[in-house]
Amino acid sequence: MTPLTDIHTHSDHSDRLYVKNIRLGTDEIPSNKGPFSLGIHPWDAALLYPDIDKHLRIIQNSYNELVGEIGLDKICGVDWGLQMEVFEAQAAVAQRPIIIHSVRAHREVLEVLKRHGSLPAIFHAFVGSPEQAAEIVRQGGYLSFGFGSLRSTKTLRALQYCPSERLLLESDTTPLPIAKLYAQVAAIRGVSKEELIETTYKNFKQITE
Ligand SMILES: [Zn+2]
Repeated sequence: MTPLTDIHTHSDHSDRLYVKNIRLGTDEIPSNKGPFSLGIHPWDAALLYPDIDKHLRIIQNSYNELVGEIGLDKICGVDWGLQMEVFEAQAAVAQRPIIIHSVRAHREVLEVLKRHGSLPAIFHAFVGSPEQAAEIVRQGGYLSFGFGSLRSTKTLRALQYCPSERLLLESDTTPLPIAKLYAQVAAIRGVSKEELIETTYKNFKQITE
C-alpha cells in the first residue's frame, strides 16, 4: 500500500513518510542521512545573523536533503532587511529543494527564488489565492497544504485549482491525524483518498530522491 506522506513536520512519525524540519539554532541536527530540512527560520534571522557564515556552512555541509524552512514573514516583526539578507544568502547556497515559509510575502519570495535558478521550492502551509498559487506553479514551485490552509476560503479555491503534479500535504506542528487531512483534501478536490495518496507520494518522492 502506498504510504501517506508529510512534506513538513516538526515531529517524528511511524505512520508515514515525512520530512522533518530542523530549525537551526534551536533543534539538534541529525548526524545521519535522511529526508530532513535544515535552515534559518525567518523568525530567527536577527538572532542568527551575526554568525551567518558559520550557519551557511552548516547548511551546506550537513546531511539535510532539503533546505528550510526559510523565507519571509511580513507579520513576525523581525527586521525586514535582515530577513531578506538571511533568506537570500540561504537560497544562494541551497543547491537542494527548499521548504518556504512565506507569510504575506509570496511575491517577494518568488523574486528571490528567481534570482537563484530553478531549485524546487515548496510553499509550506500555503495560504493564498488561486492567482498566487498559479504564479508559484508557473515558476516551478509546489504548494503544500495543512489544516490551517483549509480555514481560508481563497485558499480552498487555490487547493481546488492546484495541479496534481505540484500538490503536497503536511502536518507542520499539529498533532491531528494526517489521515484526516487526506480525507478532507480528497473531498475538497473531488478525488478519492487513494488517488490523492498516489499523487502526493509521487511528488514527495520526486523531491526527496
Ligand atoms: Zn513549520
